[in-house]
Amino acid sequence: MTAPLKKLAQVTLQHHFADLGDTFGSKLPPTPLQNPQLIHVNRQVLEMLGIDPAEAGNPRWAELTSGATLFAGSKPFAMKYTGHQFGSYNPDLGDGRALLLGEMEHDGKRWDLHLKGAGKTPYSRFGDGRAVLRSTIREYIAGEALTALGIRSTRALSIVGSDEPVARERMETGAALIRVARSHVRFGHFEYLFYTRRLEAQQKLVRFVCAQFLPEVKQLDIVQQAEALLRFTVARSAELAAGWQSVGFAHGVLNTDNMSIIGDTFDFGPYGFLDDYEPGFICNHSDHTGRYAFDAQPGVVLWNLNALAHAFSALLDTETLKDCLGQFQPLLIDSYAERMRAKLGLAVDEEGDQQLCADLLQVLEDGRVDYTAFFRALSHYCGERPATRLEALVPPGQHESLGQWLNHYDHRLQKESRSAEERGKAMLRTNPKFILRNYLAQRVIEAAEQQDYRPLEDILFLLQNPFDEHPEFDSWAALPPDSGKHLPISCSS
Ligand code: AMP
Ligand code: MG
Repeated sequence: MTAPLKKLAQVTLQHHFADLGDTFGSKLPPTPLQNPQLIHVNRQVLEMLGIDPAEAGNPRWAELTSGATLFAGSKPFAMKYTGHQFGSYNPDLGDGRALLLGEMEHDGKRWDLHLKGAGKTPYSRFGDGRAVLRSTIREYIAGEALTALGIRSTRALSIVGSDEPVARERMETGAALIRVARSHVRFGHFEYLFYTRRLEAQQKLVRFVCAQFLPEVKQLDIVQQAEALLRFTVARSAELAAGWQSVGFAHGVLNTDNMSIIGDTFDFGPYGFLDDYEPGFICNHSDHTGRYAFDAQPGVVLWNLNALAHAFSALLDTETLKDCLGQFQPLLIDSYAERMRAKLGLAVDEEGDQQLCADLLQVLEDGRVDYTAFFRALSHYCGERPATRLEALVPPGQHESLGQWLNHYDHRLQKESRSAEERGKAMLRTNPKFILRNYLAQRVIEAAEQQDYRPLEDILFLLQNPFDEHPEFDSWAALPPDSGKHLPISCSS
């Protein structure tokens, strides 16, 4: 039975994580942003949390999201973690500009509310504790885009801007959002406890995460719980990487402190969705070696899992660690194949499907074809020649290879029992019309910087419903102008 929806005034937070103790971070209040202006409250997230969506209109969100007032029961807590950044261990990380406000329970699920842009903490190092409007909007819309595409991600409940000046490459203004996730525990939490030899605390954290996500192992001993948790994280991370690769999402900064223990897409910086299918796409302007290039992601996720496994070596022997990590590749391949079959409209699993998919990706790469638009157009394909809709997206020099591929595809489709109409319908629910292109994000941000939030409202609506036609919004599905591809996205946020 679903619990009744709450009014905002009835929301009371719990503080299970903060109660783990001082080893895990520091209690401190937010430093409120000056003159906050409420920009958006996410009705879908309100519902997810069991709060009446009509509360989106409550002016209290401005105070709550700027840190000026706290939810009842909140014990704000800066979480301590460390992590590997670009391959090097950094012991000095932690919530440097964010605070875990507490947890909410709804329908048997617990959700963390985390205020990002909350001011300085003991882990701020040289940072100012703030987040700018640009990056806050980018985080807000990315969580919605991925969620609607069926990819695990943190989301955000509300966003405020302010007139507080914040220095980045240029002067910008401060903003904040309330991030919502089932857990904010990162790989880096376990690395911190391992490298500082806080091994009892590490066991405590293993039990904490297992109690929430693997209740079936609650009675088992700590070694068995640790193994179950590592297997769970490996599996979730494999599914996550497969999801990213299938929709063309590049995270950009896959450091272990940005990896969620439950396999959510976590911490959005200079991410990007592919426009043209370009496997080597690097979205992070500062990633000079391409460590976090689009096609490097599965390998990097495994690298990060190795770092996590190492942090578990106080609890698990080498053979067990290897065995857990060994799950990654087969799960990744299966999960990716399943998602790509759905994109191709293949309901049955046939030998040769992976090759068929790889051949198509080669055509797209050779022709620098728009990834999202191509799959959307393929959803309308019924064997016609010429395949006008598809050819419109592929340069003439590539039409012959497209034709050859379509011949193979036609042949393969004969093994399907679904009608072309049914297949097309299913594909239109899998291949989005609207995707979070960088040039669109830029357009939304530039408007918001002028206090025009209409484009933000529009893009949120489209990203939350990316498979519907919305003909009145066709311009949001247009291919990017050449100047809109490869916009340099800096790491600063
Ligand atoms: P990120 O690049 O956002 O994943 O952050 C890496 C580390 O730097 C984390 O410990 C953050 O909390 C910290 N950090 C990032 N930006 C700031 C900032 N403006 N002020 C304080 N700490 C920050
Ligand atoms: Mg981070």
